[in-house]
Amino acid sequence: MIPFTFQNPATIDTALRAVRTEDSMPLAGGTTLVDLMKINVLKPQTLVHVSPILDNSILIAGDKVTIGAAVTMAQLAENEQLQRLFPAIRHSLIQAASPQIRNMATMAGNLLQRTRTAYFRHQDLRERDDEVQRTDMPFGADADTSSLAIIGHNGRLVGTYPGDFANVFVAFGGEVNLISSEGKRTVVAKDLYRLPEKAIQYESTLKPGELIASITLPLTETARNSLYYKIRERSSYAFALASAAIGLQMDGNGSLAKITKANVALGGLAPIPWNSVAAVQKLEGASASDETFAVAANAALVGAQPPAGSEFKVDVAKKMLIRALQTLRDQGPMTDATILSMQHGRS
Ligand SMILES: Cc1cc2nc3c(=O)[nH]c(=O)nc-3n(C[C@H](O)[C@H](O)[C@H](O)COP(=O)(O)OP(=O)(O)OC[C@H]3O[C@@H](n4cnc5c(N)ncnc54)[C@H](O)[C@@H]3O)c2cc1C
Repeated sequence: MIPFTFQNPATIDTALRAVRTEDSMPLAGGTTLVDLMKINVLKPQTLVHVSPILDNSILIAGDKVTIGAAVTMAQLAENEQLQRLFPAIRHSLIQAASPQIRNMATMAGNLLQRTRTAYFRHQDLRERDDEVQRTDMPFGADADTSSLAIIGHNGRLVGTYPGDFANVFVAFGGEVNLISSEGKRTVVAKDLYRLPEKAIQYESTLKPGELIASITLPLTETARNSLYYKIRERSSYAFALASAAIGLQMDGNGSLAKITKANVALGGLAPIPWNSVAAVQKLEGASASDETFAVAANAALVGAQPPAGSEFKVDVAKKMLIRALQTLRDQGPMTDATILSMQHGRS
């Protein structure tokens, strides 16, 4: 680890001045940033500890929820009103990381976590960032390419966005409220992440010196009937191989019901939380039948180009989305017990 300076500002103004300095970075729970510093992937010269002075409240008012940047994953998951008004938020959090990490990690830091792929985190592999990398590049037999994107990568090898909550955030049209010494601005969820051009992972559209102050999400009908479904290699402490944040508003019940509104974002598949406009278009206005769900899943994965070794993810992703839609249609939002007992892994 490279030496750095630690700053613990007492006010937001001081923090905003400190994060303007080149080579400084905001520190929240540190569960990702410190890891990446230890392996010399991120090398800030100054860390500005912002979480003690940022908002840590959850405000439900009118038709939206405002989540302070310093709210922890655990705190958000435990909010009882939201469990009823927006079950997918809790689902995405209780299936993420571990209780210890969820107690430390903040929601602002959660949105800005970096890809887990070794091609980003390993120094030797990072040296090759500038090469033109192609998805048909041969890998060794044992190489794990499952954290490389299979959609949205424009023919290059780029890491998947690994987080869970951000898929809910994007699917349901959230916003981040940003502050800097220049003022405030709001960015809609889908514009927070930019597909990588040259880098191995997404870029955020935060400007230098900007901090996330809070996150808002609309409390809609589909939010009430929502779920987050995650397929992973083991049932705890693992990132998504494929996941979906979905919401359905239906006229009627069962497979004959008409879908009047749908939200779909996919995780573990693309360099950014993937707002699946293609799946939504196939769902809205159609009946909630298994056939419709299969059509939506095919549309969501159309054009997928899995790098060698991760071909299986196309099938996993389609089955995952179909199963998520069927579960929401037939059972409504799931209980914790049901979520945690559902099948995980590659099959
Ligand atoms: C072993 C392990 C397993 C995990 N599994 C999962 C999982 O299954 N699902 C999942 O979603 N996540 C998972 N995570 C990731 C975890 O959720 C994140 O590490 C955590 O949410 C980051 O929050 P933090 O407060 O610790 O952020 P930090 O590590 O402090 O910061 C992360 C990034 O956000 C920036 N930042 C922090 N706060 C602000 C702010 N207010 N404004 C602007 N920038 C800011 C920092 O500069 C840094 O770049 C896992 C992590 C670990 C270590």
